[in-house]
Amino acid sequence: MTTYARPGSVDEALELLLEDGAAVLAGGTDLAGQIDRGISAPGLLVDLQDTGLGGIAPDGKGLRVGAATTLADVAEHTLLAPYAAVTTAARLAASQLLRNQGTVGGNLCQHTRCWYYRGEEWNCWLGGGDTCFAQIGDHRKHNLEEGDCISAHPSDLAPALAVCGATVVVRALHGEREIPLLDLFRRPTADNRSLVTLERGELVVAVRLPAPPDASLYLRTGERQAFSFPLVSVAAARHGTALTVAAAGVANIPRAIDPADPLAGLPGHPQSAWKRQVLETLVERALVTLRT
Ligand SMILES: Cc1cc2nc3c(=O)[nH]c(=O)nc-3n(C[C@H](O)[C@H](O)[C@H](O)COP(=O)(O)OP(=O)(O)OC[C@H]3O[C@@H](n4cnc5c(N)ncnc54)[C@H](O)[C@@H]3O)c2cc1C
Ligand code: SF4
Repeated sequence: MTTYARPGSVDEALELLLEDGAAVLAGGTDLAGQIDRGISAPGLLVDLQDTGLGGIAPDGKGLRVGAATTLADVAEHTLLAPYAAVTTAARLAASQLLRNQGTVGGNLCQHTRCWYYRGEEWNCWLGGGDTCFAQIGDHRKHNLEEGDCISAHPSDLAPALAVCGATVVVRALHGEREIPLLDLFRRPTADNRSLVTLERGELVVAVRLPAPPDASLYLRTGERQAFSFPLVSVAAARHGTALTVAAAGVANIPRAIDPADPLAGLPGHPQSAWKRQVLETLVERALVTLRT
C-alpha cells in the first residue's frame, strides 16, 4: 500500500523522507511511470507542491532556481534569458504538457529510459538484477562507455546547467550541502545502482547559477524535433575565451567533454557507434558558433 503526504514546509518533507520506502513526488511525470512499471514501489509519496520550492530569483550575480520550478517556467522566464543553453534545453524537453508539470529537481533525478529497465518483463542489472540485457540485445540508443550498465541519462537540463557553472543545493534534516551540478550524478556500481549521489533523506532544494557566461548554446539530436528524448545532446558555454562543453546521451550520466578531444573515453559499442559521429559533429558545430 502507498500512502500520500503533502507537507507544508521543506523541514516537514525532510522528516517524512526519513521514513522507510518514502519517495519524493514532484511533478510525477517520471515517478508515475516508474511505479506503473514496477521499477519503484514507494510506501510513502512525499508531495513537494506545498513546500515553497518553486520560483526563480536573483542570487548575488546569478540566480537561484527552486527545485520545484517547472520546465515551462525555466524555458520562458526572463531572468534566465542570458543563460541561452538552459532555456533552449528546457524548451526542447518533452512536450508542453510535460513541461508544465515536470520540475527541475525531477528532471535531474529522473531514471534512465533504457527499454529493458522500463520493461515490466525484465529485471536488469540497474534495476537490481544480474544481467544487462542491452549488452546482449538491442542497444542502438545506449551510451558509448564500457561498463556494467550502458544506459544513457536523458536529462536535457543537466548538460546545459553544467556548462553555465550551476551548483545543486541538497538539503537534509541535519544540514545543507552544495555541489557542482555534475557531481549530483554517479556511475552505478554493484553495491549501489543509483545514478545520483543523494543519500537517504536528502532532497534537491535548488539549483544555483553564477553570473551568466558570455555566450552559451544547447544542441541535441532526437528521433523527432519535438516530444522526443535526446539521443545525443551537447551544451557549450564561453566565458571570455574559455570554452566549456558537456554532453548527455553518450555516457551513463551527463559528463564534461574535452573540446579538443570530444571522444576521449567514449569508445562506443557496435550498435551505438553512430553516436560518436553525432557527438563530434554537435561539438564542432557548438564551438564554431561560440567562437564567431
Ligand atoms: C513522454 C515523456 C517524454 C519526455 N521527454 C523528455 C525530454 O525530451 N527531455 C528531458 O529532459 N526529459 C524528458 N522527459 C522527462 C521529464 O522531463 C521528467 O519526467 C520530468 O522532468 C520529471 O520531473 P517531475 O517533477 O515530474 O519528477 P517526478 O516524476 O516527480 O520525479 C522524478 C524522480 O526524481 C525524484 N525527485 C523529484 N524531485 C526531486 C527532488 N527535488 N529531490 C530529489 N529527488 C527528486 C523522484 O523521487 C523521482 O524518482 C520526458 C518524460 C516523458 C514521460
Ligand atoms: S543498459 Fe543499464 S538499464 Fe539498460 S539493461 Fe543494461 S543495466 Fe539495465
